Amino acid sequence: STIRCDVLVIGAGAAGLMTAITAGQRGRHVQVIDHANKIGKKILMSGGGRCNFTNTGTTPANFLSANPHFCKSALARYSPYHFIEMVERHGIAYHEKELGQLFCDVSSKQIVKMLVDECQQAGVQIRTQCSVERIEHGTDGFRVHTTHGLFHCASLVVATGGLSIPSLGATGFGYEIARQFGHQVLPTRAGLVPLTLSGTHQERLAELSGVALPVEASSNGTRFRNFMLLTHRGVSGPAILQISSFWQPGDALSLDLLPGQDAAEWLRQMKRERPAAELRTVLGDVLPKRLAQRLCEHWLPDRPVRQLDEPDLRKAAQVLSAFPLVASGTEGYRTAEVTLGGVDTNEVSSSTLESKRVPGLHFVGEVLDVTGWLGGYNFQWAWASGHAAGGVV
Ligand code: FAD
Repeated sequence: STIRCDVLVIGAGAAGLMTAITAGQRGRHVQVIDHANKIGKKILMSGGGRCNFTNTGTTPANFLSANPHFCKSALARYSPYHFIEMVERHGIAYHEKELGQLFCDVSSKQIVKMLVDECQQAGVQIRTQCSVERIEHGTDGFRVHTTHGLFHCASLVVATGGLSIPSLGATGFGYEIARQFGHQVLPTRAGLVPLTLSGTHQERLAELSGVALPVEASSNGTRFRNFMLLTHRGVSGPAILQISSFWQPGDALSLDLLPGQDAAEWLRQMKRERPAAELRTVLGDVLPKRLAQRLCEHWLPDRPVRQLDEPDLRKAAQVLSAFPLVASGTEGYRTAEVTLGGVDTNEVSSSTLESKRVPGLHFVGEVLDVTGWLGGYNFQWAWASGHAAGGVV
């Protein structure tokens, strides 16, 4: 038996559910299918279980894409405040953590429940454990063969997300659909992901696993100031996750270990004020002690500061302000929060998210080559792109 609908959404994640709600509210008959046993798994896992559901400071500059203009239209028409309005209407308490990041006070489950309730009110039907076998396209729309039977729809919305965290249901299926219909898929790679170290850096820093400190991480002209965490395999924490999206193997990556301070000036001051103290001792007052010690064993002169002449001092300042971290790679999709690259936006309308190749085919959310920074931007893109597509399908 054929299930007829106006709109079939593949993927019951953030973007798919927002598309469905928006289209359903317009009176469209919407079906949502997902191969996972539960909807919104990434929403549930996000923000340490509290879902950083948006960022009040969202601008197009917070996204990476081969076409940085693409995200502007959808973001402009669905702002963080539109989503906040829905959150408040559902009585969900939230707070700002830092830098405009909004989190639920209680649980990310509330966001999933809100989306499900909105779907119900809009008459949207959701089916889990439903896998797509084949998609055909003709003049009368799309025929989607699935494990739950044949769906016949006028509009097909691909909301299958990226490759990050396969154990949460991520697949490259959206890219396959894109290719089937002649779309380009730009190379994908893990983003917002811990970095691994190799060689001497791995050997010298692995023992410091658990040490955290504020740094400014920079690579390829981009810099982020936030915390870094040393791990058994490498480095993590928000500063590293942010810079990981801008770094690729072989690229230089440097850390300012005294962010906001002039390291040379500080060293000169220490030389004046505490000439007899060992460098590791004075450094131990501004850096985690174990890190200060390790730096002085391998990268910095292990002597009283009065023995540092001006060239020594400048060399030491260089190590502290631009520590060259030798990263070998990333932890990969297993732990990455997002996938960079994806469906080429040049072949998709920025206002309707409709394919320029196949009328009625839409791509929303992370499957597209639009990737936000860490901090709620990725959900805001999912909501905004879903809202834009839902308004026209
Ligand atoms: P998804 O939410 O991934 O949804 C895709 C859906 O498609 C899934 O339900 C999946 O099961 C389904 N699907 C996949 N393949 C198929 C298939 N073959 N057939 C049928 N269905 C399929 N972003 C933030 O803004 N704030 C955060 O706090 C945050 N925390 C995160 C924490 C973690 C651990 C991770 C992994 C990501 C986090 N992100 C966060 C990123 C954010 O979750 C994603 O960018 C966002 O979920 C993308 O929305 P989407 O709807 O495009 O894809």
